[in-house]
Amino acid sequence: MADAPIFSNHGCRLNAYETAAMTELAEAAGVTNAVVVNTCAVTSQAVAKARQDIRKLRRAHPDATLIVTGCAAQTDPGSFSAMPEVDRVIGNTEKMAPETWADLAPDLIGQTEAVQVDDIMSVRETAGHLIDGFGTRSRAYVQVQNGCDHRCTFCIIPFGRGNSRSVPAGVVVDQIKRLVDRGFQEVVLTGVDLTSWGADLPAAPRLGDLVLRILKLVPDLPRLRISSIDSIEVDAALMQAIATEPRLMPHLHLSLQHGDDLILKRMKRRHLRDDALRFVEEARRLRPDMTFGADIIAGFPTETEAAFDNSLALVEEADLTWLHVFPYSPRPGTPAARMPAVPGPAIKARAARLRAAGDQAVARHLAAQVGRAHDVLMENPRMGRTAQFAEVRFDTDRPVGQIVPATIRAVQDGQLVA
Ligand code: SF4
Repeated sequence: MADAPIFSNHGCRLNAYETAAMTELAEAAGVTNAVVVNTCAVTSQAVAKARQDIRKLRRAHPDATLIVTGCAAQTDPGSFSAMPEVDRVIGNTEKMAPETWADLAPDLIGQTEAVQVDDIMSVRETAGHLIDGFGTRSRAYVQVQNGCDHRCTFCIIPFGRGNSRSVPAGVVVDQIKRLVDRGFQEVVLTGVDLTSWGADLPAAPRLGDLVLRILKLVPDLPRLRISSIDSIEVDAALMQAIATEPRLMPHLHLSLQHGDDLILKRMKRRHLRDDALRFVEEARRLRPDMTFGADIIAGFPTETEAAFDNSLALVEEADLTWLHVFPYSPRPGTPAARMPAVPGPAIKARAARLRAAGDQAVARHLAAQVGRAHDVLMENPRMGRTAQFAEVRFDTDRPVGQIVPATIRAVQDGQLVA
């Protein structure tokens, strides 16, 4: 019996969704004896990790067809096709096309090009592949948008993902109904620049309209979560959903990137420090149990100690809990890569200080949950997550994939204990 393809996923939730879709496409096409690495290009470390993974997988599977795709392959296909371990390099659009996988079936693969990577900027549609499941996960990620029209000076993503394009609301609702029918209790809306959802659709609906429509048309969906948003682009309908829809999770991850206005301008971000503070204040007024996560870059070119202190202070001022800290990593071809760099040791030290502030914020949040009741979505027999995304550990088994009630008794090793 020929081996089913092996998938190795790197990077963001959108990549995770696409890996689930590729798994189904490859299976349907009868692809066998293949290893597929879905790469990320957000930092130079991510690209280095992909290469490492490719070498490791080649050693483990010497006879398999090794296929590389994802943003690192899309932005720099030549550097992967030059690797002796690699047989095929496939672009981000091609990886979602059934015909790509049909051509990779055992009897056809010999006739395919080694590099199949088209101009991502010419893509206008999102691939409408509906997935059936998500491996063993208890929550399912659903792509609603792809690409980005912004050009933040540090970011390579638009060159890997193309311009912004939306999945029509009807397709999103069908996808979510399908996942709920298969027992998923939580769905996470994912994309590259979620708040631009709808701008390319007739009547230009907004993300909030989509959220309200999903909750109306899929009444059996217990939990809807939004992955990452640009707070300055949040629309009125989304604020209404935050205020009135208990099934919309009180947890928003903000793409803040920095807390200093001059640096935000040099990043070409659309918000300033006070805009971010105003947004979290208003969202909390509407939904007092709201918890925020945020992406923050440490050591962006020209960042002074004083500018960094403005970022650090934002963690407490905005009461951010789940921090994703990125030490600045120059991306080839981006404007920031040509700006005067902050010395490496300073970048490292600042990232460590931000992470420490993040750990303290998590400790504050967890301590405040002791004695409270929470509904927890079980991810494995002994661990699940609250609506605010905190991990909860149980001493006895609970049904995986189900939402169970819990009263928090203590905090241990960075987890709540029920
Ligand atoms: S909004 Fe900026 S950071 Fe986000 S994907 Fe687009 S260019 Fe990159």
